[in-house]
Amino acid sequence: MHSRVLAAGWRLSTVDVHGSVTLTVWLCGCNLKCPFCHNWRIAERLACRELHVSAIAEEVGAARSLIDYVHLTGGEPLVQPDAVAEIFSRARETGVRTSLNTNATLHGPLVSLLKRDLVDHVATDAKIPPDLLYGIPGSEPLWRTFLASLREMAERGIPLELRIPVANLPPEAYRGYLEEVRRALEGSRVTVIVQPLVGQPLVEPRDAAWCGKYCNPPDELLEAVAEIAKPLGRVIVKRWTPGAWSRRAA
Ligand code: SF4
Repeated sequence: MHSRVLAAGWRLSTVDVHGSVTLTVWLCGCNLKCPFCHNWRIAERLACRELHVSAIAEEVGAARSLIDYVHLTGGEPLVQPDAVAEIFSRARETGVRTSLNTNATLHGPLVSLLKRDLVDHVATDAKIPPDLLYGIPGSEPLWRTFLASLREMAERGIPLELRIPVANLPPEAYRGYLEEVRRALEGSRVTVIVQPLVGQPLVEPRDAAWCGKYCNPPDELLEAVAEIAKPLGRVIVKRWTPGAWSRRAA
């Protein structure tokens, strides 16, 4: 099979998977409308082009001695499930491990990939509270689907990078949701990244007015959410300091 894929581009990266070098590929389209999204042009399939999967596979092969993973992000890669499967299969053939950044709300395509044993690593956001962060009405079923996806990954022992994008809300807004996440992930290997929702001037979010209210939370709030997240696994707090991201263990 030689699928075509709608993609925005790729580059070598040291920031997309914690502690690893990746060839990160941005695939277009998304099923959510997160108001803070700074990749909304990719999510809306703007600034994208149709490519043969083999063009991406060749880039992965050429970079294989430099990278730990090919990392598919977006947008939401799983709106193009056949292309994801083919890119991952081709990467595996060249000895490159695979990493998927997904919102984990497209359960069927995710489980299909997992059943084919094509995924070595997953990164996902716990978008809390979902009714505020998913950007579409009726977020509760999506949150339940997200939890089901976490359970599926935990049962299969997939190494998971769980990001908690922190909004300007009281820390207690996170406790109940994170307890649900903890129960879904029981016993699995998780790296938790607590990070701020960033807005202008660093990025151009989909909804600047929304972000003016909820983005760029203070450091104390990151620390408070990190404390609540500790039962989930190893917690790292990521901050934007002028010019660069910094990380430290909580
Ligand atoms: S943040 Fe991610 S899941 Fe949300 S709209 Fe943007 S690409 Fe989609």
